[in-house]
Parts: sequence; structure tokens; C-alpha cells
Amino acid sequence: MTDAHCHVVRGESRHFLCEPCDLASAGPGDMLFYGWHPWSLDGFDIDLLRSRLKADPRAGVGEIGLDRLRERTIPGEMRRAFELQLALAAELSRPVALHGAKCWGEVVKACAAFAGRIPAFVFHGFSRSPGLLPDIAAMNGYVSIGPALLNDHAVNYRELARAVPAGRLLVESDATAANGAETPHVEEIAALLAKLRGEPVEALAAAVEANADGIANFKGRNID
Ligand SMILES: [Zn+2]
Repeated sequence: MTDAHCHVVRGESRHFLCEPCDLASAGPGDMLFYGWHPWSLDGFDIDLLRSRLKADPRAGVGEIGLDRLRERTIPGEMRRAFELQLALAAELSRPVALHGAKCWGEVVKACAAFAGRIPAFVFHGFSRSPGLLPDIAAMNGYVSIGPALLNDHAVNYRELARAVPAGRLLVESDATAANGAETPHVEEIAALLAKLRGEPVEALAAAVEANADGIANFKGRNID
């Protein structure tokens, strides 16, 4: 099964492997996402990212986004880096993997401006109420459900996971090199997700794989 967002390879059938990560660990079926995470913008260089993406026509852009977990206000440089990376994804027509902790409304708004020019949006760790789902669907966005689902107290998150249309669902571990050993695998998340949604797990897994295929088989563009 596809792990739709991770930073380490752990033996799934396919990984959407996002920087920061060890790119050299990827298998032939994995999809890579290059970019500057909002927590680590040191050395940010959009021209370097452009040349790396051009050298790998099957790669997406990520993990990129905005964050209010660490500071209440979003720093200007974080916002600029996000906008530049979205514009680059549109220029080269690449899918993006998104981070939006505590500011999903702003991330959705920024992405909506690129609807139709960015082929797909993976909303990783998305935890807002279902109110934003129509906007996400309209821009060919996908909501990736993660290990938080396994927490019995995650009532709102479970409600969101039930509300996402099957054609918009992905599952993810967000595993990193540091926590990979104890992070649940996507099969465990998918099994509970199917139960909560009252669907056979096979049907849910097939829908999730079809969604991941659609993202991985995007039509890119290289501009010289
Ligand atoms: Zn991540």
C-alpha cells in the first residue's frame, strides 16, 4: 500500500518520500518530493530547487507550507518560501505535498490560487473540520489520513476521516528516520479507517491506491 507522506522508506509498496529525507534510500516505485519544509528554510534557494526538479521530471514539490505550531505569527520568510515553491510547482506542473499545522485555512487559500496549474495537492496531516473539503476537492486536492486516527480520543479527527470522499482519500505514516521504528504502518491506519467508514478494507485500499496512482502519474512540464 502507498504511504502518501513519509520521510523514511519502510518497506511499503510505494512511498511518497518527502524532503527532509534520505533520497538515496528510495526504491524504483517511490515518488520523491523535493522542497524546503517550513521548519528548515536555512539555505533556501529556489533556483537550486528548480534545477533539481528539472533533472527529475517525476518528482513533486514538498514538504512545503506554513506553520503556526512553533510561533503564533507566520514569519514573512516562511510565507515567501511557500509562495515561491507553489509558483515553481505550477511552472513545472508538479504535485505538491503540503504542511499547514494550525493554519490550514491560509494554506488552502494560497493553494486555491494555483488550482488548475498544479496537478494535485496532498494535504498531509490535515486536521481541520470538514468545512474546507469542498475547496480541497475543487483544486484536485487529497486528504492524507495519518496515525492520529489510532488515538481513541481523536473524535474530531475521526469525524473528518469519515467525511472525506473516497476519491479524495490517502493514508500516511509521516514516519521519519527518528521515529520510524515505532510509527504505525499505513495498513493499520487503513484498517481502522475502513471500519470507521463502514467500508470493506479492500474497497478502501483500492480507492486509496487509485488516488495515489493518479498523483504519481501526473503530467509534468519542463521549461527551459
Ligand atoms: Zn512530514
